[in-house]
Formats: sequence, C-alpha cells, structure tokens
Amino acid sequence: MRNGFLLVISGPSGVGKGTVCEKLIAKNKDVVYSVSATTRKKRPYEIDGENYYFLSLDEFKQKISDGDFLEYANVHNNFYGTPKSFVFDQINSGEIVILEIDVQGALKVKENYPEAVFVFLLPPNMVELRKRIEGRNTEDEDTINVRMKNAEKELGFIDEYDYAVVNLDVDETVKNIESIIEAEKFRVIKGGQNG
Ligand code: 5GP
Repeated sequence: MRNGFLLVISGPSGVGKGTVCEKLIAKNKDVVYSVSATTRKKRPYEIDGENYYFLSLDEFKQKISDGDFLEYANVHNNFYGTPKSFVFDQINSGEIVILEIDVQGALKVKENYPEAVFVFLLPPNMVELRKRIEGRNTEDEDTINVRMKNAEKELGFIDEYDYAVVNLDVDETVKNIESIIEAEKFRVIKGGQNG
C-alpha cells in the first residue's frame, strides 16, 4: 500500500470544490488541505491562513523567485500558488494532501509530480454553474462572465484527469471521492515504495 499522496481537485469556479473539500477533510482524518497563497482580495467570510494566505503582488513575486511554490498560475486575473514545503512534509508523514487548484496549475503539477491523483469536478450543466456563482453574491457581472468563459475552456482539459465526478449532491460527491481515495491507497507505485 502506498503511504501519503497528492490528490488534485479541479473544476470550474462555482462547481462546489470548496464545500466538497471541507467535508472530505472533516470526515477523513488522514486527509489534509493545502492552503494556497493568492493575490485575490479576501472575501468577507474568508480567514487569512485558513482559506488562503492573502499576499500582495510583491510578496507573491518574492515567493516565486524563492522557489516556494509547487505550482502557481494566473487565474481570473489574480495569482494563486501552492506552497511546496507543506505538501511534501505532509505526504512524507503519510497524509493525503488535497490541492484545490485550477486546470493550469493541475497541468503543472502533472508535469512535475505525475504520481499525483487528478480528479475533475463537473457541474450538472452550465446553467446550474452560473446560478451557483451568482448565488454566492461575491462576484460582479464582469467577473462572473470571465469565470464562465474560463469554465468552458477548463472543461476541454478533462482528458488530462484520472477521474471525473459530477457534483449533483455534495454528500454523494464526497462519498465518490472517498471511494477514489480508498482505491488509490492500494495503487502499485511502479519502481516506487509500496508497503
Ligand atoms: P477563488 O478565487 O474562487 O477562491 O478561486 C479561483 C480559482 O483558483 C479556483 O479554480 C481555484 O481552484 C483556483 N486556485 C485556488 N488555489 C490555487 C492554487 O494554489 N493554484 C492554482 N493554480 N489555482 C488555484
């Protein structure tokens, strides 16, 4: 059996990745969430260090040049990045680390760390997706349009993923991802360390 591993979850903005990941972590003690850094403005309900590390553009650029990110990307006109040291410390101590990142970031992780497991979360349909983003009441019309355009582009990359899960019902989705996690615990790592 393999020890810790990296589980990358992507999917369009509004698909429900945040809620799904929160539930997964609350239910599974060996699953931990990697808190990303971002230059995006904090939403009122978000907590610095819990949802994201909110950084200025200069701080973010410094971290890029220090090589602190496993991957980073410009998503919807803001920078987002995954702190590298947390991810590998946790994997090495046997944890399953969840990255909730966009498609560009996932592709970079795939290049640098192909042994990660890649899950794409799908909305039931695009109308529902728009409704969910609007229902959040946190983005203006222009931002929603950018996010919808990006969603269509992102769906084109589904072939790069190992699994696709339609998020109709959060609890059902969480169960489906738990099944994936269970199966992945038993994957044979070619030329790697199993046991
Ligand atoms: P939001 O602004 O709604 O929190 O997130 C916008 C998008 O950025 C989402 O698709 C989310 O998955 C992605 N994202 C969040 N953190 C990271 C990260 O560390 N790296 C990358 N590449 N994307 C991220």
